[in-house]
Amino acid sequence: MRRLRASAGLRGLVRETELRAGQLVLPLFVSETASSREPIVTMPGVERLPVAAAVEEAREAAALGVAAVMLFGVPAEKDEQGSGAWDEDGVVQLAVRAIKAAVPELLVMTDVCLCEFTSHGHCGLLREDGTVENDGTVELLARTAVSHARAGADVVAPSDMMDGRVGAIREELDGEGFSETPILAYSAKFASAFYGPFREAADSAPAFGDRRGYQMDPANGREAVREALLDLEEGADMVMVKPALAYGDLIRAVKEATRLPVAAYNVSGEYAMVKAAAAAGYLDERAAVQEILTSLRRAGADTIITYHAKDAARWLAQS
Ligand SMILES: [Zn+2]
Repeated sequence: MRRLRASAGLRGLVRETELRAGQLVLPLFVSETASSREPIVTMPGVERLPVAAAVEEAREAAALGVAAVMLFGVPAEKDEQGSGAWDEDGVVQLAVRAIKAAVPELLVMTDVCLCEFTSHGHCGLLREDGTVENDGTVELLARTAVSHARAGADVVAPSDMMDGRVGAIREELDGEGFSETPILAYSAKFASAFYGPFREAADSAPAFGDRRGYQMDPANGREAVREALLDLEEGADMVMVKPALAYGDLIRAVKEATRLPVAAYNVSGEYAMVKAAAAAGYLDERAAVQEILTSLRRAGADTIITYHAKDAARWLAQS
């Protein structure tokens, strides 16, 4: 077996998996309250951005060959329903318009959820007993997705894990004249410890309880495939597995079952672990990031959403 490992030329000749900048998506936190870039302590190198700075980031990502940005909103005001989510002049809608005007060739994806906009931090409408009401939430998600499409989003990505939301969003988009806007469904989104740093970034930690009533149990693999197949039936164009690192088996299983393009979300905690270990001198950041992203491609991910996107694109251009 060692004959084909003897030189860089031979290794390159038989390499099975390629990683390209055009497969990467950079998440951005766009803040309505930030007047300048606000560093996120738990995610070194990531910031909450005013709209103008988000445009700069988008421009830089595009110049490096990154395929897309994924926008998350941090609003000034929150309420029980999360009405900022579908406000035509909400922070996400403003950022979509600004980025598409400045960098039209860069794809803009939007996270469609209510948790960044609700006062209680849950992903939907609450019932008296504090649990999330499914169908009422789905209507608001559909309204949110349409407002993103109207602002110019190229792809909408519902992340709430309500039942039936992909079908409802598809119907509403079609009815409002956005039949060509694709849906990237967060199909298998697990209730994960690896989301911790994100909640600081997006200021979206639930005020009480947790999200295990709608996000998936990390122990369940067959259920992940069922979720993805339902989203396929409802009209999802791409499906996602989130988090990524501990879920390579499900990236593969979902891909084989749906035959759809699969995205893997290399989440905040996965990023923070690498950054912390690299800062402590425990590992080589560049080599670790390339290995992680390549492993997600090998598991079957067509697209990788990652906070390392700009660095990875820079390193790929150098190698
Ligand atoms: Zn949410």
